[in-house]
Amino acid sequence: MTITASLLSLPLRDTFRIARESSDVRQNALVRLETADGLAGLGEAAPSLYYGQSAKTVMAAMASPIFASLDDPFLLEELLSRAAAALPGQRSALSALDMALHDWMGQRLGVPLYRLLGLNPNCTRATSYTIGLASLNEIRRKAEEAAGFPILKVKLGTDHDRAILATIRRVTSVPVRVDANAAWSFEDARMNLRWLQDEGVELVEQPLPPGDLDGLRRLTEMSALPIIADESAQTPEDVVRLRGCVHGVNIKLAKSGGLREALKMIHVARAQSMKVMIGCMIESSLGIAAAAHLSPLADYADLDGNLLLAEDPFTGLKLSGGRWVLPDRPGIGVVARCGHDSSGGSR
Ligand code: MG
Repeated sequence: MTITASLLSLPLRDTFRIARESSDVRQNALVRLETADGLAGLGEAAPSLYYGQSAKTVMAAMASPIFASLDDPFLLEELLSRAAAALPGQRSALSALDMALHDWMGQRLGVPLYRLLGLNPNCTRATSYTIGLASLNEIRRKAEEAAGFPILKVKLGTDHDRAILATIRRVTSVPVRVDANAAWSFEDARMNLRWLQDEGVELVEQPLPPGDLDGLRRLTEMSALPIIADESAQTPEDVVRLRGCVHGVNIKLAKSGGLREALKMIHVARAQSMKVMIGCMIESSLGIAAAAHLSPLADYADLDGNLLLAEDPFTGLKLSGGRWVLPDRPGIGVVARCGHDSSGGSR
């Protein structure tokens, strides 16, 4: 089998800003796995500099000589274990490989990914729609544009968090999830929890820096709102460490290293009676669809990364009442839009 990677440049509709960074274009990578019979599986890497990865590191990882010796895509566990050992820390690249393997397997067997995973497509959760940091006028406009979404996710972690939430509450009364992206101090978070509870907020994501597990534990013990770890929860081992520190974890394929590791994280979280959110980076509907296939296992879905793009290079994933309708095509089930190359030519 051959594995090739190409850059996937994704311009955004609006500048996307959170507490620590902002971007206008997302640089992802597309991974294509093809067998001698011409069957091809696709995966998307959505690397973050925050986790020490970039499109460049993904391209370098996918050029690793290890891939020359892999030949049977059905040996998923063995292939991914070997790849993970050879490419430490390159979890977004591993995620693209894992997606491509699952996509290939689904197509070879003629079943959609949710069936391969043994999941019920009617049990997906409504996704939240994210409102990033912006001027209050822009936030108001974005909240108005998001009128069709049953849940909003609001980025906070500024010196005017109350004004942001008040602006949104003037436009809509839908449930709101709050993500501080690790920007609050313990004192900020403690004060904010009371206020957010009064505002009818559903949950709070990553209030404190990722390493402050003691702070998260103290906050969780006093919080009436679920506290969900995102930046603190990258691997199954992290979920073990987070027991008692948070109510749940936000699991993303690009953080975990793909569907296989995300499944492990879900099972570890459930074994510890923790809540599960399936989240995403900014990515095309290829990556979003892969995560959506897993979402019947989650309590919360936050799968809106493709909705923030100026144009999505893939088609086939449809929203209905705020929920993704899982494609019935074999594999991940999205197809490249006309004019977009998914051949993964440049390595
Ligand atoms: Mg988050």
